[in-house]
Amino acid sequence: MVTTKKYDFLIVGAGLYGAVFAHEAKKRGKTCLVVDKREHIGGNTYCKKIEKINVHAYGAHIFHTNDKKIWDYVNDLVPFNRFTNSPIANYKGDLYNLPFNMHTFYQLWGVKTPAEAKTIIEEQSKKYKNKQPQNLEEQALSLVGEDIYLKLIKGYTEKQWGRKATELPSFIIKRLPLRFTFDNNYFNDNYQGIPIGGYNELTGGLLEGIDVQLGVNYFKDKVALDSMAENTVFTGKIDEYYNYEFGKLEYRGLRFDHEILDMNNYQGNAVVNYTETEVPYTRILEHKHFEFGQQKKTVITKEYPLEASSKQEPYYPINDTQNNNLYLQYKNRASKDLVIFGGRLAEYKYYDMHQVIGAALAKTKKLFDN
Ligand code: FAD
Ligand code: UDP
Repeated sequence: MVTTKKYDFLIVGAGLYGAVFAHEAKKRGKTCLVVDKREHIGGNTYCKKIEKINVHAYGAHIFHTNDKKIWDYVNDLVPFNRFTNSPIANYKGDLYNLPFNMHTFYQLWGVKTPAEAKTIIEEQSKKYKNKQPQNLEEQALSLVGEDIYLKLIKGYTEKQWGRKATELPSFIIKRLPLRFTFDNNYFNDNYQGIPIGGYNELTGGLLEGIDVQLGVNYFKDKVALDSMAENTVFTGKIDEYYNYEFGKLEYRGLRFDHEILDMNNYQGNAVVNYTETEVPYTRILEHKHFEFGQQKKTVITKEYPLEASSKQEPYYPINDTQNNNLYLQYKNRASKDLVIFGGRLAEYKYYDMHQVIGAALAKTKKLFDN
């Protein structure tokens, strides 16, 4: 007897990967059930409305991409505003512009021309340039020299990752631009902004017309959930999916302390990083500035990094050699299954939003259009 299942796809996780996958599947006439253990859609992009302000519940999220197709894709669902991320660094009470640019060099050394700034950076970095950097510290020192490393990188990085900068992969620091112009834009990409009305507009648009069940932990009801669909797409932790059979992948966690303040402007900027070791949080967000808000009150969030134990949400994969090798064992194991694994946790990749969208679009194109 042939039994037909209710859905073509069960999608575990209503974050961006799951939402884009479901949206693309629906466009091709497929039916999907999306489940998430959280009580809301959007995964880590979720915004909670507090005092009429869209609060980025899981940390600052700024959309940026160089890919016009991805920019058009998200703008077709919701228009984006003109927000440009230009964080400030607070090091022991002194303020510096980020990323590292002519404003920062002026604040650090009083230099006014690119030639003067280059001379100082070259002087401070030359002794680190003679070998291939083996870790984040060596990479940073060879790129920007000692002053910037000690004031703006070391403390922040070691708090954020809970590891010495000498034990971290060098690619992490290459995320930050270094430029010799007066330009405080944190990203080099052509397109950048925040969805007008917050990220729920984006994920809500993606999931429109799709069955979603919230507060459902897949592992608590795996057999019944799997039996509802022909195929499963899994966007949670790949090591958890396989019951940690090769060991646990490490993730960095965060605690978010949200506060409502009875003032209209606390710090004058959406993001202020605290780059010294002694301050326990890495940054303070003031959410209204992501959308140029004029509300009477303001909401701020302090981000405290911590090691993600099994009870805490995993936020950042720690892509060092040991974890990457462990992930390869899971990836190899997964290649023998029919389940589709995608997203930051299932692919154990430090993906930004545009990259997750790109990965889900590539996967659905391959699956449906070939
Ligand atoms: P997630 O958003 O993690 O979604 C996975 C979902 O699966 C979650 O909702 C989870 O609850 C659910 N799930 C897991 N296990 C189960 C289970 N067993 N049962 C049911 N549901 C389950 N990117 C940018 O581009 N710009 C930024 O400025 C930026 N800032 C960031 C700041 C922070 C603090 C963090 C943590 C990330 C940031 N990112 C940023 C990255 C961005 O959040 C991710 O790229 C994107 O949200 C990942 O989408 P995803 O669907 O892969 O994962
Ligand atoms: N970083 C730093 N000082 C800062 C900001 C960032 O040293 O003021 C380093 C840190 O190691 C961090 C990495 O640069 O993990 C990448 O920063 P990004 O802002 O891209 O991190 P995310 O947005 O993913 O938290």
